[in-house]
Amino acid sequence: MQSLSVCVYCGARPGADPVFEQSATDLGKALAAARLRLVYGAGDVGLMGAVARAAQAAGGQTFGVIPAHLMAWEVGKRDLTTFVVTETMHERKKVMFMNADTVVVLPGGAGSLDELFEVLTWRQLGLHDKPIYLLDIAGYWQPLIALIDHVIAQGFADASLRDFITVLPDVPALMERLTG
Ligand code: AMP
Repeated sequence: MQSLSVCVYCGARPGADPVFEQSATDLGKALAAARLRLVYGAGDVGLMGAVARAAQAAGGQTFGVIPAHLMAWEVGKRDLTTFVVTETMHERKKVMFMNADTVVVLPGGAGSLDELFEVLTWRQLGLHDKPIYLLDIAGYWQPLIALIDHVIAQGFADASLRDFITVLPDVPALMERLTG
């Protein structure tokens, strides 16, 4: 039987604080130890590369999806357990999401935000009920959480929007949720 798959959205860069890359490494290792399959964007750069290398090194299953036009830019990681090349970014996001049971968001940039908001708005529309975990490493996502609260307070979303995201401080807290 296929084990549970965890889709990780995260930066294609390492970010300013070394704790971000450390958390990505910890996450990859922890997913492998828990026999959870990593689904991600198949790049070998930034936090994406860190989470995948750690999962692989610990013997975990990895499923990566990358659009052809990003193969060079994001250094497509061909040695994953499953490596899928799509024509477009939209296909990539769809294939990643369809092959995952749970979504985890580590620190990242505009691409990670796009991915988060896509699954969040789909959830708001009732198109899926997959859990969305926001890993607030070193408080990175606090401004985003404040913005979402602001959107709700100003009447542009139901309060339930906030409930669709579970904010957790670090990888151990996440693993407790995923395996507890
Ligand atoms: P970033 O968080 O900006 O470092 O990007 C993280 C990942 O999101 C990378 O694999 C990007 O290719 C991807 N990405 C960038 N732009 C988009 C987009 N418009 N939609 C979905 N993913 C994107």
